[in-house]
Amino acid sequence: MIGDGMGLNQLYAGMTANGGTLNIERCTHTGLAKTYSASSYITDSAAGGTALATGSKTNNGMIGMNSDSVAVKSILSIAEEAGMATGLVATVRITHATPAAFYAHQINRGMYEEIATEILTSGVDFFVGGGRNNFEVRNDSLNYSDSLRNANYNIVYSLDSIEAPVLLPFGALCADSDMPKASERGDFLPHAVDLAIKSLDARGDGFFLMVEGSQIDYQGHGNNTEGVIDEVLDFDRAIRVALDFAERDGETLVVITADHETGGMTLLNGSYTDSTVEAQFNTSGHTGTMVPIYSFGPHADHFTGIMENTQIPLRIKESLGL
Ligand SMILES: [Zn+2]
Repeated sequence: MIGDGMGLNQLYAGMTANGGTLNIERCTHTGLAKTYSASSYITDSAAGGTALATGSKTNNGMIGMNSDSVAVKSILSIAEEAGMATGLVATVRITHATPAAFYAHQINRGMYEEIATEILTSGVDFFVGGGRNNFEVRNDSLNYSDSLRNANYNIVYSLDSIEAPVLLPFGALCADSDMPKASERGDFLPHAVDLAIKSLDARGDGFFLMVEGSQIDYQGHGNNTEGVIDEVLDFDRAIRVALDFAERDGETLVVITADHETGGMTLLNGSYTDSTVEAQFNTSGHTGTMVPIYSFGPHADHFTGIMENTQIPLRIKESLGL
């Protein structure tokens, strides 16, 4: 689970606004990850996502390729090849940098239409996010939703009447581009995670699921304290769904981290009793600070200490015995 732009202060702002506690505190182990990319001390979400998906540092802007422009395999693809069910959930378009790094290989993160075509060949069994236009309103006039349907995918445009478990493969493109912000999208993210877990688990082969709380980053870029808090609390509700399942299941590892921090957010004052936070931002961009890692379940102890972000998928792979 990746909180895009979720540094320690974003999380703590959410915790404070929530009266001093979050579901993520149920994680038993914590660590720290270095986020720099191959080309910059300050990573973007393409290089950050690629590091977390594939274990390779790459240049900013690149998706699922190393810095020599050679395609590298993601942990999702490795799980898929091993026969596990695989899924992606995001609150931005499913072709956006972070989710894309788990299934696509492109020199530039802006190649959304090319990225969309790679869903079809990735074998991913379940995806939910925005980005309908990248599949259906394209420069090449092709309709990739129809292509996915021809490959047996059930493609829908809303989760409203969808009940778990859904038949796989399944894809939901719930917005033309990105989903609306947290205060306007209801329980979309926690609901999507619940649907993903129940549907992937029902196949009985084990599963790998990537969930992105995508818009913490957007609110950080906008230096919007209230927006950051809304997105963190929404992500934390999705975390609760995952931790509840992992607790019941006993065989599921949950790893939660960020690709980078956004905004250089600093907390100047706050109150648990009033649930208020006073924050200031140092930039409208990303920063180079290390980001926390939180883990729960079997092999959670493999995610402690200070590590490169590229270690995270390698250690997940090791934990899965792949
Ligand atoms: Zn960003």
